[in-house]
Amino acid sequence: MVESWWWPFIVLAVASFSYGCQSADPVGKELGPVPRVDGGQALGYVAQILDCGPRYSGSAGAACARARVRTVLEASGWLVEEWAWTQETPRGAVEMVNLGARLPGIPQGRPKVLLCGHYDTKSLDEYPEFLSANDGGSSTGLLMELGSVLAQHGSDLGLDVRILFFDGEECVTEYGPRDGLFGSRRFAQAAETAAWREGVLVALVLDMVGDAHLTVTLPRDTAGWLAKKVFAAAERAGVREAFGYAAGSILDDHVPLIQAGIAAVDIIDFHYGSRPGANDYWHTDQDTLDKLSAESLAAVGNVVLEMLWVGEIGLRPPP
Ligand SMILES: [Zn+2]
Repeated sequence: MVESWWWPFIVLAVASFSYGCQSADPVGKELGPVPRVDGGQALGYVAQILDCGPRYSGSAGAACARARVRTVLEASGWLVEEWAWTQETPRGAVEMVNLGARLPGIPQGRPKVLLCGHYDTKSLDEYPEFLSANDGGSSTGLLMELGSVLAQHGSDLGLDVRILFFDGEECVTEYGPRDGLFGSRRFAQAAETAAWREGVLVALVLDMVGDAHLTVTLPRDTAGWLAKKVFAAAERAGVREAFGYAAGSILDDHVPLIQAGIAAVDIIDFHYGSRPGANDYWHTDQDTLDKLSAESLAAVGNVVLEMLWVGEIGLRPPP
């Protein structure tokens, strides 16, 4: 992903004004207590994924990561589909694969919530062993742990929660209409996933969610009503101080989803570095497992669960 800083100040002013003037989110009390993720378990899954090595699109490491995701999700009862395609990139054709997981026995027509992340890593000539613990690893491990929690507690939500693992988020040379966000674009456009795009209430994209110094930076293009729901969920999860806005918009997997008419938010911490506000670990050999914490993964995972546990009515956009 990449951040742009040109966002007009007038939009910032309107966004903060509308946030301040709206009432509190409804919480679906009939859904029972909100479960919690096990941050240590999520971190263990991240380590399993990093064990696969570099996971750039088309690599053996990417295939290994897919197999580990499948093994964990299928063990708790998820049905996992793989959608493979040949992607033209600035460096030629690359075999890419998206993964989608759904729970069996969910009645048709339930409103869908998509939990999304990318599992690929950037191919960097200067860091051939780039493991990308936070950027691609953290969200993958957390989605695996969320899968375990939802397999136990998710079928009573009145929702059809599905988990998506996108390939090819990272650009080959430079982000543009023909480079980067390949997996999310494919999901947003392909006929084979049309049914997955029907009746989606909201898509929560997770990226770079493991930094021990967690500072979630919602992109400035987040819909105001959706940001409000994220912040309210963070409040209920007791981690509101770790959630704020980025300085600008961020180009990430939420963008193709929004362009396809899906309400999507990118829950991303784009301050991943050696000092507050810096992002100097991103796309370098400093993006390693020791920079992550179980607490941060639990914080983001619990915010996701708080969002889900308001149910359909609580997730709906304002009329
Ligand atoms: Zn990246």
